[in-house]
Amino acid sequence: MLKDFIRPHILTLESYTSARDEFSGSADVYLDANENWMDFSQEGKNRYPDPHCTLLRREIERVMGFRMENTVIGNGSDELIDMLIRIFAVPGKDSVLIERPTYGEYKVFAEINDVSVINVPLTEDLDLDVVAIKKAIDEHSPKIVFICSPNNPTGRSYDAEKIREIASYNPSLTVIDEAYADFDPSFVSAYTLFSENERIAVLRTFSKYWALASSRLGILIASDTVIRAVNKIKAPYNVSLSAQRDGLKALGEIGERKEVLEKILSEKKRLTESLSRFPFVRKVYPSDANFILIKVDDADGLYRYLMEKGIIIRNRSREPLLENSLRITIGSREENDRLLEALCEREESTVS
Ligand code: PMP
Repeated sequence: MLKDFIRPHILTLESYTSARDEFSGSADVYLDANENWMDFSQEGKNRYPDPHCTLLRREIERVMGFRMENTVIGNGSDELIDMLIRIFAVPGKDSVLIERPTYGEYKVFAEINDVSVINVPLTEDLDLDVVAIKKAIDEHSPKIVFICSPNNPTGRSYDAEKIREIASYNPSLTVIDEAYADFDPSFVSAYTLFSENERIAVLRTFSKYWALASSRLGILIASDTVIRAVNKIKAPYNVSLSAQRDGLKALGEIGERKEVLEKILSEKKRLTESLSRFPFVRKVYPSDANFILIKVDDADGLYRYLMEKGIIIRNRSREPLLENSLRITIGSREENDRLLEALCEREESTVS
């Protein structure tokens, strides 16, 4: 049972009960939380926010279909990654498993928590190496297996059947980070595996498709066992009132978000085609996300050149399998034009 993988002191922990937990109905006079009675903001900012983001979670269920009983909102999905590691992995003793290359925070949060990291390389074509992952699970018994799909920085989403195979093999928690899933209209979420496997947890974020990176809103979708544990350890007011309102507003503007998605997808196609034509671009990897990974002749040189032109991309060349690779976020049409113009100028100057 998944419960057996949770650190015992978390299971028995008596968590803090906030004023808003002790009384959650509605009343006329609140003298319970030592707040300032004066609301300078005139929007209720003098009061602590709902610790459980109830309205936001209800709206998430309506719009995204994730049952509200199975969600917790984090201060970005980064906070949720950190909390999951702290719930399952004993510092100085346990490990988590990641594939390389992938999103850097799984490793960093594990290391902050003194939890070791088992690295399993992706295959040459940047796919999951299911055999190697299963072998590493047997050898190291990691407390969490992280799978990022679509993967950052490769842009590739993995076959749902492979994820299912790993998650059913792994006796502990498998976390599927779907931060970029909304950019792939044909994406099959690991949430569909949820009813058959309590050891699956899914992460989503408002930072990408929903265009709210500054609000810090991440969603964990998980079984009751995990949700209960996260609610035990999370700081009571981890998501501000403004952030909760931002999330609610965004969910009401789904039409606008879809319009921008169409633009991002058509710009991704245009950029992919245009980038492939430069002789110094060796490869443009297919992407299911809102960024493209390219392999070039001289990634460091190109990165520096673009920076001097005021265009910042991400140099991922130090990652395993990604020698001379650059990650480029799909910007607005104008921003992408700036990038392509700068690359044309460089090409012309090396030819002449
Ligand atoms: N997961 C992945 C795969 C990411 O790329 C990022 C941010 N770049 C995050 C999680 C963190 O998202 P958030 O802003 O919700 O903390």
